[in-house]
Amino acid sequence: MKNLQNLLKIILPICLLLIGCSKEKLLDDQSSDDQLLKQKSVSSKAVVASNLKPIGSGVMMQAFYWDVPAGGNWWNTLEGKVQDWSNAGIDAIWLPPASKAQNGAFSMGYDPFDYFDFGQYNQMGSVETRFGSENELKTLITSAHNAQLSVIADIVINHNSGGQSEINPVNGQSNWTKFTPLSGKFTRDYNDFHPNHNHGSDSGIFGGFPDLCHHQVRVQNELWKNTESVAKYYKNVMGFDGWRFDYVKGFEPWVVKDWKNEVGGFSVGEYWDGNAGTLDWWTGQAEVSAFDFACYYKMRDAFNGNNLNELNGDMLWKRNPMRAVTFVTNHDTDEIYNGKTLAYAYIMTHEGYPTIFYRDYEEWLNKERLNNLIWIHNNLAGGSTNVLYVDDNEYIAKRNGNNNLGLVVYINNADTWQERWIETNWSNTVIKDYTGHSGWEPTTQSGRWVKIQVPPKSYSVWAPK
Ligand code: ZN
Ligand code: ZN
Repeated sequence: MKNLQNLLKIILPICLLLIGCSKEKLLDDQSSDDQLLKQKSVSSKAVVASNLKPIGSGVMMQAFYWDVPAGGNWWNTLEGKVQDWSNAGIDAIWLPPASKAQNGAFSMGYDPFDYFDFGQYNQMGSVETRFGSENELKTLITSAHNAQLSVIADIVINHNSGGQSEINPVNGQSNWTKFTPLSGKFTRDYNDFHPNHNHGSDSGIFGGFPDLCHHQVRVQNELWKNTESVAKYYKNVMGFDGWRFDYVKGFEPWVVKDWKNEVGGFSVGEYWDGNAGTLDWWTGQAEVSAFDFACYYKMRDAFNGNNLNELNGDMLWKRNPMRAVTFVTNHDTDEIYNGKTLAYAYIMTHEGYPTIFYRDYEEWLNKERLNNLIWIHNNLAGGSTNVLYVDDNEYIAKRNGNNNLGLVVYINNADTWQERWIETNWSNTVIKDYTGHSGWEPTTQSGRWVKIQVPPKSYSVWAPK
């Protein structure tokens, strides 16, 4: 009896540890966020949506594309969709930059002017933004929260646009650096941009736009440190839950790390680089997630370039699955190609936090097929990954499962049906294809081997019936 107790003392904590690791560590960012939320939002008046799905438990929706219809209706359009998306297994929506930009009612938001004008001030030629009014945005965020969805803000802080011209005494040139927005918040002049008396430049400028200097204490205070900073206003007043940082190549990774440490929330950076090692370095420095551009390029070579061997290449999710946000296309790449659904089959069955592009879901691809893949992602795709077979036309991998069954995915880029014997994790078990593409329900051998099949230009996903 005594021995049993001792044994339990050893085994029980190990079991708890294993359970804790598998379920709660969905994403690196999430666990520390919850602690930060507890510490920092005690005194905040914001409605803290406590019933949100954990980010990373499902799939992110990129809820816009380049040049969505102008006219101030986009927030309303999205509001009509959030409940359906949540039902399908989406856990967060990523919105375009929501505040007033230089191009006013025509801007997609990436030329930010007044960070506190969400469509309530008459400046830059309009009151509303391209997407709608401040109230419409707040209504959308409330509806998303009611549907258990987190809302991710697109944060553009490398550059600004729409200022008046002034002479910069540092270099004697005139620059568009005099900002007096109608919100009256975060007024700026040449001191807040490069070059200034303290600092000449940072890691990158964007298209000649005035380049914010995050080394200036005043800029840090206005962007994330003050009570009324951009970050805290977005979080506490507008209700945003997380951050997508635009063009992070344009400044050093500590900026994102500082922001995140100040206000918490899931964070992902757009470090546009196909080198997995560089992406891994950036996520280590910034201590947040990054979009997996390495995976994006390799998938394009595989599914558009018709060589699935490319999937053996280096990707961020293979180095750090907790910090990889995978995607097939986005508002910048905005492309259609034949193997796109196969690429979705890849990211939905593999590690990393997958994103669905609005147009793929709502306009271009088969929504039922995507919903099936989201279901597979949320219910079967757990645990580590082993690649079982690759050639130019075929790719087979298995997920080993954690708190779910795991799966075997078979992707076929050939024009004919394929089949192969593979070693699963299951012995003497009836398995089936959860995509419905194959009606086969084979039984695995005692040695766990089984033959699976896949239709032409398609995929199948196998797990115990
Ligand atoms: Zn600087
Ligand atoms: Zn910069």
